[in-house]
Amino acid sequence: MKTIYLDNNATTTVDPRVVDRMIASYRAAYANPASPHELGREARHALEQSREHIAELLGTQLHGEGSSRLIFTSGATESNNLAMLGITGPKPKRILISAIEHPSIVGPAEFAAQRGCRLEHIQVTPDGVIDLGHAEHLLAEHADLVSVMLGNNETGVIQPIEPLAALCAQQNVPMHTDAVQAIGKLKVNFDDLGVRAMSGSAHKFHGPDGIGFLLLSGDTKLHPLMHGGFHQAGARPGTESLVLAAGLETALQNWSDEHPRREQQMASLRVELETLISRAVPDLVIVGRNAPRLPHTSSLAFPGIDRQALLMALDLEGVACSTGSACASGSSDPSPVLIAMGLDRSVVGGALRFSLSAMTTRREILEAARRISRVVARLQGF
Ligand code: PMP
Repeated sequence: MKTIYLDNNATTTVDPRVVDRMIASYRAAYANPASPHELGREARHALEQSREHIAELLGTQLHGEGSSRLIFTSGATESNNLAMLGITGPKPKRILISAIEHPSIVGPAEFAAQRGCRLEHIQVTPDGVIDLGHAEHLLAEHADLVSVMLGNNETGVIQPIEPLAALCAQQNVPMHTDAVQAIGKLKVNFDDLGVRAMSGSAHKFHGPDGIGFLLLSGDTKLHPLMHGGFHQAGARPGTESLVLAAGLETALQNWSDEHPRREQQMASLRVELETLISRAVPDLVIVGRNAPRLPHTSSLAFPGIDRQALLMALDLEGVACSTGSACASGSSDPSPVLIAMGLDRSVVGGALRFSLSAMTTRREILEAARRISRVVARLQGF
């Protein structure tokens, strides 16, 4: 069997049905959706239909009083930057984020901090769940924005977004959630979550890369980060891609049609992977195991083994996984997420992330568990 791909949190393969829809959209040769002529109007109509359908699939509406807005972006890094810097405006005074956010939230938050904004972190428990009591304490003082992710990209731990959003609403503080790893893995309903903004990215759920979105509730003001066009009401100027929007829509529709099966399949394969490896490696640590987790993510620590050495050995053995976020993989520093959880140094130093997708098969999981167990035994000197 060739290389087994267990790095789906970095990106997933595009579903062939998504490719077909995108090819059909390219072939339809639409005009620029911003053009006023008939062909432009047709393109606009197709784009807006995709936009509305995507919003519906995410549990919200783009029409009617107080309706939401959906802004297409190039991906979630852009969506997160737009949320962090666009909602808070040019002179934010105080921003709260959790201690386990993705680099695309930490980056803009630190950028704001360099310009004089106070940046404070909501702590997490050793299981990787934010401490709601600490959040409440921090919210006693006004903040311009709170941002906490829905499911962590390294541990898969699901965060209590609804109660936090309720606390934020009580204090009239806007809240954003980075739902990138949860969409297409869990049922995500924007209106039910009660947040004011939510980011997502198509390439994490078998859609195309190059497109993401920021959903905003009707009452949320946004300062654009880019200037020079009135597309998307000036919130994010630049020609919108019909083809990418159609790909995103199809990927989300597929998830919606198939989600009970997909969720159950990923969760049971993840359990099987963890069980098989624990049998071969008795001191294995399953990070966040006592917390609710996304069905496809497993952060496994092999105490006493260096994660970089293990990653390379697994690569040679034909298992593709990662040491953490692909956006931080240029760095050899230990994971800030696991450090924030207060885990032991040997756990942090020996942790790898294995992430499945709707296309991962049982055969692959059985073979991956064999390969991982073999490599770990070798590195442990058995
Ligand atoms: N947030 C999270 C939680 C992620 O896992 C990622 C992808 N690494 C991103 C944001 C960035 O998404 P994109 O690759 O679409 O920029």
